[in-house]
Amino acid sequence: MSAEIENSPVPQQEAATLPFLTTSLDAVINWGRSNSLWPFPFATACCAIEFMSLMSARYDFARFGTEFMRFTPRQSDLLMIMGTVTYKQAPILRRIYEQMSAPRWVIAVGACASSGGFYDSYCTVPGIDHIIPVDVFIAGCPPRPEAYIEAAVQLQEKIKDESFLTERLARLRDRGEDLPS
Ligand code: SF4
Repeated sequence: MSAEIENSPVPQQEAATLPFLTTSLDAVINWGRSNSLWPFPFATACCAIEFMSLMSARYDFARFGTEFMRFTPRQSDLLMIMGTVTYKQAPILRRIYEQMSAPRWVIAVGACASSGGFYDSYCTVPGIDHIIPVDVFIAGCPPRPEAYIEAAVQLQEKIKDESFLTERLARLRDRGEDLPS
């Protein structure tokens, strides 16, 4: 029996049966982050129609904690790009991404957002990863709502592997803070 339980004001027998669990700070933070993603829909074309289905009761995207749609980037941490992005829109998309609260994640929905789709033209960006970092790509033209759900699950798995403390230390070091190694 540990010293804490021996010295506890709770009688020893009772203390030994108290329920408890151990975990890490990263596990708790990642659990919260991955189950409360607030999406910002950047919808420029037909993939957004499937997104409307996804948000309906039939597909129930709320199961993943992702139904709280925000139309301001400052309140969002998940950017979903649905549709073709032109070079004229590229700076706007980049600005929206930079205005989002950190940490933030990006899903490229469908062929157009992921690769420019069939628009082999001078004005279409051949994939939004030329402008901003992308966490998950969804294939299809258009992808079905089930593909959106699969992407959300993949993103949740990815978030669960992240480390809050490592990120924070890296950010402080970038700012030039003198930290112990
Ligand atoms: S991938 Fe297909 S459905 Fe989606 S925006 Fe492009 S053309 Fe439309």
